Amino acid sequence: MVPRSIAACQTATSDPLRSSEREPAWKRDLAEAYRDAADLLAALGLRPEAIPDLDPAESGFRMLVPRAFAALMTPGDPRDPLLRQVLPLGAERLTVTGFTRDPVGDTSADLGHGLLRKYTGRALLIVTGGCAVHCRYCFRRHFPYTALGQTPDRTAAAVASIAADPGISEVILSGGDPLMLDDDRLGALLERLHEIPHLNRLRIHSRLPVVLPSRVTETLCRRLSGSPLASVLVIHANHPSELGADAADALRRLRHADVTLLNQSVLLRGVNDAAQTLGALSERLFECGVLPYYLHQLDPVEGAAHFAVPDTQALQLGEALRDRLPGYLVPRLVRELPGRGAKTPLNDAARIGSPFL
Ligand SMILES: *Cc1c(COP(=O)(O)O)cnc(C)c1O
Ligand code: SF4
Repeated sequence: MVPRSIAACQTATSDPLRSSEREPAWKRDLAEAYRDAADLLAALGLRPEAIPDLDPAESGFRMLVPRAFAALMTPGDPRDPLLRQVLPLGAERLTVTGFTRDPVGDTSADLGHGLLRKYTGRALLIVTGGCAVHCRYCFRRHFPYTALGQTPDRTAAAVASIAADPGISEVILSGGDPLMLDDDRLGALLERLHEIPHLNRLRIHSRLPVVLPSRVTETLCRRLSGSPLASVLVIHANHPSELGADAADALRRLRHADVTLLNQSVLLRGVNDAAQTLGALSERLFECGVLPYYLHQLDPVEGAAHFAVPDTQALQLGEALRDRLPGYLVPRLVRELPGRGAKTPLNDAARIGSPFL
């Protein structure tokens, strides 16, 4: 994509060579992302044989890993927790009872135009199907984005339907990753939302400040700080090593733009299923000005069963976190149950009946 104006090319970097290019630095960073497991492994000094279950066929969900994220992995470690989140494995082909293609009922909650109304008072708008990283455990890995993705017409229809419903006070931009929209397109959407008098808050769920920190441009920060809506950004980090110096810097810029920063994580076997790791994640988030919000039990999506942590162990981890952290650094341990208007605390979800017990 070619940005429409020079103004859209402003970037957070001060490197004159990069900022003088017509394309924003983050788009170039995205173009240079690893798309081939062999390249990523070579960069980490790993031979493909070091990963016995490697799946070059990628089970229909392409590998995609920005270099900034790969740079945070430990070279030579085939069990690196960041690598494990993104590397396609043969285990993704296993059929496991209870693990389905639409585990949280998103397809049935869609009202058309990519607008999901499953949460009271909040409208969730899917603005793009694209992401900067492909997380192997993603609950939307089979989501029919091409059918639900946004075109200008669909966006207009979604905005009209939000404008027609005074019960909505918060718009949640989701995806895919909503920050995959460039500053011009995001700015145009925000301007239309600003005209809706009953909206108070804008929430953005994005993994980009973590996996592609160059996306946090000056223009983005200015748009958010200049918005009449209170902005909340929910980032997505699962492991303390994901929050390197560049992500910390991007988060600092967002804080200076008066954006409230929260984090959601997914509990993942072999990645963050230890109290020590989750505790360190909360501490690192706080250093970066982010409060832990949710720790999700994995949504049982087909292809991700090898990441599942049993509920009994998840509840023990939750207890261990309460023991070692101040209350405000303990994330809410929840599960998304289809057809419910809110996340269910895992304690209750376990009583209701869960696939992992
Ligand atoms: C749960 C969820 C929401 C909304 O729920 P809250 O309880 O208001 O945070 C929005 N987006 C995503 C991706 C979610 O998983
Ligand atoms: S960034 Fe989010 S939506 Fe995209 S693949 Fe990862 S978990 Fe899924």
